[in-house]
Amino acid sequence: MKSFMHFIPTKLFVGELSQYSNEFTSFGNRALIVTSNSSLKNDSLNDLTSVLKEKNIEYIVFSEVEENPSLETVEKAFELAKGKVDFVVGLGGGSPMDASKAISILLNNPTINSRDLFEVNSLKPLPIIAIPTTSGTGSEVTQFSVITDNVRKTKITLPTPLFPDIAFLNAKYTQSMPELTTLSTAVDALSHLIEGYLSTGATFISDILAEGGLIKFGECVESLKRREFSYDVRESLLLISCIGGMVISQAKTSIPHTLGYSLTYFKNIPHGYSNGIVLCEYLKFHEDIQKVNKALNLMGFQNIDELKTFLDDVTILEVKLTDEELKSFTKIAFENKAKLKNHPYEVKEEDILKIYKESISN
Ligand code: FE
Repeated sequence: MKSFMHFIPTKLFVGELSQYSNEFTSFGNRALIVTSNSSLKNDSLNDLTSVLKEKNIEYIVFSEVEENPSLETVEKAFELAKGKVDFVVGLGGGSPMDASKAISILLNNPTINSRDLFEVNSLKPLPIIAIPTTSGTGSEVTQFSVITDNVRKTKITLPTPLFPDIAFLNAKYTQSMPELTTLSTAVDALSHLIEGYLSTGATFISDILAEGGLIKFGECVESLKRREFSYDVRESLLLISCIGGMVISQAKTSIPHTLGYSLTYFKNIPHGYSNGIVLCEYLKFHEDIQKVNKALNLMGFQNIDELKTFLDDVTILEVKLTDEELKSFTKIAFENKAKLKNHPYEVKEEDILKIYKESISN
């Protein structure tokens, strides 16, 4: 067996926040809650502030996180809370959780230039608590914070590892997710399981997690196709997302995420769908056919075409690219060497162009 390290330092709780209220007191008595407007549509913000009040923890709420949060948003939250908080709570989907991680670095290092977030890999953050209200990113158990850089016109994974100290899972917060978000985030979680399973960084343990996640995902396929999201299905999707996060925290994402970033940045396609659009062509390109087939079979699919039929069914949006766009997206993806090296075989620029072309034309 190849040698590997397995490191997920996040304390994970599943259930009601009030059951675990003592956990909040270990980091101080002043919190910044980083969230978006969608947290107002479920009970999460209410539950969180009730627990903080019960524990006499003062809090500031920053609720302006947009999808694919920008460095400008991170700076804005930092200005609001600078010198006033002891820890940060990321509440919402991947965007608020990722933003909360970046903000926590600035709050703990108030004199740095904010662009250092993209360059320096050893900045210490304030303690981070993550509470997901969508089920795709798995950010609650990963070290990743993906922030949009409007200078470079792409999404960048910050180089500093930013595992939350604590994560709380409760499926009731995901119940108000609209259909499109439920489907797109489920495809993101699926993409994490598959990319991690097939990446250079896959380990014995990450494979066992990925295989378990893929089996569980297979159990949700019919419900996703029928758009029937019972509480049990919501709970399964939330756990699948968390497992997907654990997988990529060790094994990382690779080609679909690299190619998906431009579809999100330039064409406004939700992150999960962006991965889903290129996922099947990536699987056709992957040289480890045995492992590709195992991943498909664990979900109950006989071949890539069956997965494609499922993905077409749950992907509500379409994307068209001009030749110019195909060329420039290919160039951007090919320059993302850090991500492409997670693919176990050499990736040429023409391979990327082919994956884009075939994905978009089908
Ligand atoms: Fe993702």
